Amino acid sequence: MAKLKFAFYWAATCGGCEEAVVDINEKILDVVNLADIVFWPVALDFKYSHIKAMEDKSIDVCFFNGAIRNEENEQMACLLRQKTRVMVAFGACACFGGIPGLANFTNAEAIFKRVYQETPSTHNPEAVVPQEDFETEEGRLNLPRFYDTVKRLRDVIEVEYFLPGCPPPAELILAAVTAIAENKLPPVGATIAGAKTLCDECDREKDKKVVTEFKRPYEIIPDTRKCLLEQGIICAGPATRAGCGQRCINANMGCRGCFGPPEGVIDQGAALLSALSSICEIKDESELKKIKPLILDPAGLVYRFSLPDSLLKSKRSVISG
Ligand code: SF4
Ligand code: SF4
Ligand code: SF4
Repeated sequence: MAKLKFAFYWAATCGGCEEAVVDINEKILDVVNLADIVFWPVALDFKYSHIKAMEDKSIDVCFFNGAIRNEENEQMACLLRQKTRVMVAFGACACFGGIPGLANFTNAEAIFKRVYQETPSTHNPEAVVPQEDFETEEGRLNLPRFYDTVKRLRDVIEVEYFLPGCPPPAELILAAVTAIAENKLPPVGATIAGAKTLCDECDREKDKKVVTEFKRPYEIIPDTRKCLLEQGIICAGPATRAGCGQRCINANMGCRGCFGPPEGVIDQGAALLSALSSICEIKDESELKKIKPLILDPAGLVYRFSLPDSLLKSKRSVISG
């Protein structure tokens, strides 16, 4: 049987999704037996010209991680789409915008100001910020445009499958590769993970208790048998897709939502806000005042991985209607 051709690419990413590929350890040898890796810029020196020279649809599967933050990310997504049969959004950033997507609470100008002028370690008296194009001795140089708004992969190209997680767990990566090898992929558009919520697969005891205060994880040692949320530790389990193997719950930490919303939920942040509201016992304004400061960054908490995927999408989209 002819070997498959795989590509791995990173756009606006932290590099963790690339590490996740090697986290499958010796199983990487199975992947190499099954497929030739024809494009993987993080591991081998590839140029734009290499991918441009490939025949259209000659790559069987492209695992694309990272969000779309700038023009280059979008151009590479389009180019890889042209060369690939099956596109997989790999990781929370590609699926939902992820952590880079939190920047949608601000804009490019404010980000450049903060990063290049205001941070305590910056010395930049002439307030120089990256330019999109400028003159050099060799002529005019155009750099990729930095977008105001972070997008999901599916906002710029068609995507066949979604493999969520920050990063996707090794078991899920292997399950996806096995499904590809055995030609047993789910219907196009599917998310390769559970369909229900993390709470549905979590076996911690739930007493349907209400909470009157939230605690930071360092403030208590939670009971490992009981629901974290009912102990006052914020857990995004009620609004998060199952399938990660309860990685954070097993470490006695609340879920942060990196698997995105479960099937049928269109706004993970709104779903989490609703779940948190329903578990809180707030009788009056004074109790609300007590509970509010315990949630330090409400928007960042409920949309940690999914702001570009939400109905809100960005602060700018709300302001501009
Ligand atoms: S999903 Fe997580 S690990 Fe992957 S690139 Fe984004 S931030 Fe990094
Ligand atoms: S809220 Fe968290 S700890 Fe509680 S049942 Fe759901 S996933 Fe488990
Ligand atoms: S418990 Fe939540 S944050 Fe942790 S890996 Fe699973 S889905 Fe991601």
